Amino acid sequence: MQEANVLNEIRPMVVIGAGIVGVAVAEQLQYRGHKVTLIDRESPGRGCSYGNAGHFATDVVLPLANMKTILSVPKLLMDPLGPLSIRWSYFHKALPWLMRFAMAAAPGNVERSCQHLRALNGRSIESYDRLLGRTGLTDLMTKRGALTVYERPDSAHRNQSTVDLLKGYGVEIQSLAADEIRALEPALGPAVAGGLYFPRTAHTTNPYRLVTCLAQSFMCGGGETLRDEVVGLENASGSVDIRLSSGKKISAQRLVIATGSWSKKFAQQLGYRVPLDTERGYHLMLPNAGCELTRPLVSFERSFVMTPMEEGLRLAGTVELAGLEAEPNYARADILFKHAQSLLPGIENRGATRWMGFRPSLPDSLPVLGIAPENPRLAFAFGHQHLGLTQAAITAELVADQLEGKAPEIDLSPFSIKRFQ
Ligand SMILES: Cc1cc2nc3c(=O)[nH]c(=O)nc-3n(C[C@H](O)[C@H](O)[C@H](O)COP(=O)(O)OP(=O)(O)OC[C@H]3O[C@@H](n4cnc5c(N)ncnc54)[C@H](O)[C@@H]3O)c2cc1C
Repeated sequence: MQEANVLNEIRPMVVIGAGIVGVAVAEQLQYRGHKVTLIDRESPGRGCSYGNAGHFATDVVLPLANMKTILSVPKLLMDPLGPLSIRWSYFHKALPWLMRFAMAAAPGNVERSCQHLRALNGRSIESYDRLLGRTGLTDLMTKRGALTVYERPDSAHRNQSTVDLLKGYGVEIQSLAADEIRALEPALGPAVAGGLYFPRTAHTTNPYRLVTCLAQSFMCGGGETLRDEVVGLENASGSVDIRLSSGKKISAQRLVIATGSWSKKFAQQLGYRVPLDTERGYHLMLPNAGCELTRPLVSFERSFVMTPMEEGLRLAGTVELAGLEAEPNYARADILFKHAQSLLPGIENRGATRWMGFRPSLPDSLPVLGIAPENPRLAFAFGHQHLGLTQAAITAELVADQLEGKAPEIDLSPFSIKRFQ
């Protein structure tokens, strides 16, 4: 990113955070004719957006906070290879978030979250079509659907109520027998007992390149980028003042906070409480996997995903509650290889690399979107949990509408930070 002289300068529109969400918002505002400055302490795409599973998971409209999750927590925690772990030293800090998570799992709340997630996800692919079409990046979205596979013969039956619920929200799903799944993905071994095909989902073969190319497009269009760390925000008259670690200060006439898992303190500094925490996740990248998939493949029993990427096969998933400071536990990435071996005989991990990312998560599984209550200068776009890649382009369109004083295509009040005040 290029440096610029920003000392006490006024900027019309500033977006903080150059992950997939912030970059999409900055690009969208610029596309609409605004002069936009994008600030990040790192180069674009080095946060959570770097290493996700690349799945435009439009089918995921059931919030993680639901009764099935709550009931399975004890079993999940006892499984050393399981998809959930809590660092016990962090447990007391996670407790308020966990209590809200449990409340969000009440049936009425789940139904509401399903509707709101569907409202975003149902518009996700079309908004990416617009974004990638105008930036010349259509090669970064592959529309080949996604699969969920079952290994146990009773899994289809156990998953039926969820399938019915998703169908009720308009998600297209086809049930497939084992041989039909293997016809689509011949690398799969005999462990597969059946599964589901989701035709209206897509994937990117390089989520990091997606962010960097969008940022490049933003810069080529005249967008300004600053590589600096935001150390404080303050309400001023007619602007929000931004203090940077370089000692510089800029005044934003309109500000969008899109700093993913690091957004809580910024909201607090401007007077808003938000129970944001992070669900840490891991990936294992296999450059020489020795077997190929052609679309994202989710394991129902093992709760992880395998996605074909430009640089190999990516195994991703797991949730670890341990906050923003604790060292990564890369054993959780290595676990993914053991799981993949059960599905893909002959898979190899020569040259594998491991990564951890911080999913920004609210207990009700909904992001915080839109103009701040009683402060039209300020907007939020964070907390997209497991779906930040999926929802970034539609988030950008909806937030830009509000910033321009237009009514967004969907009602943003369920996503407002007001729900936590
Ligand atoms: C293992 C894993 C798999 C996933 N798979 C998928 C998937 O398949 N599909 C999907 O839709 N989602 C997936 N996700 C979730 C998705 O990656 C996130 O929701 C998304 O990346 C969040 O994007 P973001 O832009 O909000 O945050 P980030 O990408 O984390 O960006 C936030 C930015 O803010 C910057 N920042 C923070 N503090 C400051 C500061 N003080 N000053 C300046 N800059 C600052 C950071 O440097 C960072 O660049 C996955 C996540 C994980 C961990």
